[in-house]
Amino acid sequence: MSEILMEILEKVDQEECTNELQIIREFNNVIHLKVYQQHVYNFCGYHATYNILQLLNHFHQKKCYLYHSVSFWKYVKFVQNYLKLYRTKHNINHEPWSNHDIEHGDFERCYLKPWKELYHDVIVIQYQFGRIVNGLKEKEQIIHSIQQFINYDQVAPLIQVYMLGITFHWVSFVAVKTKSKTKFYFMDSKNIDYCEWKEQIKYKNTQMTSIIKELRLLDMYLQGILDLQELIKLMDQALRGELNFAEYLCDSSTLMYVRPLYELFGMSEQQFLDANPAEINQDIIIVWAQEYKNTIFSVLKEVSILFDRSRKLLTQVNKITSHIHSIIGQQEVHDPFQQCHDVIQGLVESFKYEWSYHPKEKQINLYFEDASKCEHISYITYVMKAYFREFVTKQHHYHIRIQFYENIFHPQGGGQPDDVGSIIIGDKEFIIKNMYNDRQHQESYVDIEFSQEAYDLLLDCRTKKTPILQKVNPEVRLIHSQLHSAGHLLKEELIKLGKGLKYIKGMHFQKESYILLEGEFEIPIEQIPREFQFQDLQLSICYYTHNKVFEILGYVPEFVEFSEMVRWIKLRDQDIGFPCYGTHTVKGLDKIQITNILKNNNQFTIFYNL
Ligand SMILES: [Zn+2]
Repeated sequence: MSEILMEILEKVDQEECTNELQIIREFNNVIHLKVYQQHVYNFCGYHATYNILQLLNHFHQKKCYLYHSVSFWKYVKFVQNYLKLYRTKHNINHEPWSNHDIEHGDFERCYLKPWKELYHDVIVIQYQFGRIVNGLKEKEQIIHSIQQFINYDQVAPLIQVYMLGITFHWVSFVAVKTKSKTKFYFMDSKNIDYCEWKEQIKYKNTQMTSIIKELRLLDMYLQGILDLQELIKLMDQALRGELNFAEYLCDSSTLMYVRPLYELFGMSEQQFLDANPAEINQDIIIVWAQEYKNTIFSVLKEVSILFDRSRKLLTQVNKITSHIHSIIGQQEVHDPFQQCHDVIQGLVESFKYEWSYHPKEKQINLYFEDASKCEHISYITYVMKAYFREFVTKQHHYHIRIQFYENIFHPQGGGQPDDVGSIIIGDKEFIIKNMYNDRQHQESYVDIEFSQEAYDLLLDCRTKKTPILQKVNPEVRLIHSQLHSAGHLLKEELIKLGKGLKYIKGMHFQKESYILLEGEFEIPIEQIPREFQFQDLQLSICYYTHNKVFEILGYVPEFVEFSEMVRWIKLRDQDIGFPCYGTHTVKGLDKIQITNILKNNNQFTIFYNL
């Protein structure tokens, strides 16, 4: 730090704003700007955000300090202080929010939320090993922003700001568009001119890449440069509408699995597509499957078959693995080859169905509005053979995973367990084995035991939108709802006995129910009543904005982050209430007994039953 301090001291009296931008290189529409050089190794996030603000100042004819140390370090101090205030305001007490984390750690991704509130909207793109790795919802937002930029057609400039996260490094990218002009600005606190892609450099990199591959060593620095070059090129093409971004995302997921495969065969993509499946080396596929078995399902289930390249490549992989499968026969379900083959085959099989060419309908969860509804007829919008590992026995087997358009099944979440239930198609009843909660999209799936017959039947139901009866076991649902609702009531009563007591989580299983509170009680534990009585219960469900939730609680719980409107539950008029996506009832809750209280530091686990 002392070197920087010296530099700052020298400059304190001579800081001047920047009138002209210094350009390192200009290529196509991208202007690579010189910026204040980074000295502290993990401060790239501060540099990237600082550079964005200075460039915006420049655009708005305000004072711009792109090359100035004092201004930069003042900014760092200011942002760090703001983060501390934000932490206190939102009652955040986990990593990376301690004073030490904020002052000495990296500029973490979660700091961007407060940063955006303070300064300017930014779109984050994370890119690693040749692929965009943002979550599904973020990818949708990126596609939306890019489309908005392409369609923009007004005289006043549109300015879009991107933070690009590339293997351990943040850089910034600003896109400006008017009716007649499009310009991109790229800023990197390392100021190295590695952003051009002349043939010579490309050649060097290709050579290096193959050496790395042969040695199976990973040079992170070089990978970072390759990723950066690729991403800047991609941004340029996508924002100018020369490349379909949705198609790019789809193909890059496919290529993540298929490219290593044809490279292992020593083939080009075209040679691979033209290859005779019968002549493919079986051993290589086994090696490949070993490496990719764990992630192949989660990545490829996002692949849309609308796009030609992905469809052709996956069809060819399926031909190859199907050929091998016909020779070696059915393997154990946990065999890597079998796992990969099943995923690819499931995907490719769905290509023949019309429905797989349309986006899946958004699920409607009926239990949000009516928790007493235990039978309902709807059709399914998704069918997939899914590999399943039992939590307790650790055994592997297959399920058929389906999603209903209108759903009454409650999947485990918020401490409330899965419903017990079945589905009925014609005269056949299928018991539900597991439920899968996709919290990010507030959708859920149900699993039944795999059999080829059931699988074919469900694919047929999916095609014909056959009405299927869903049945929830009403007794179990009622007990789950009661235990869960009791948790709400107990929380309301106990929080009154403390100062700043906060609800952390609950577990509402028949074999054990408890809620976990954090803070301090104002009375000794022994004096906490062991029985509570309730009357005049009345369930109310409403939907609040994040701001409203913050107003009431003083913080926004992490689990509601994905939903725009937060479902707010109250069981009595006088209660504060809490965000929740469970099922509730007011039946049979006249009396709740506390059976045990365990204290661990400032956390209290309070066990109860009805
Ligand atoms: Zn609830």
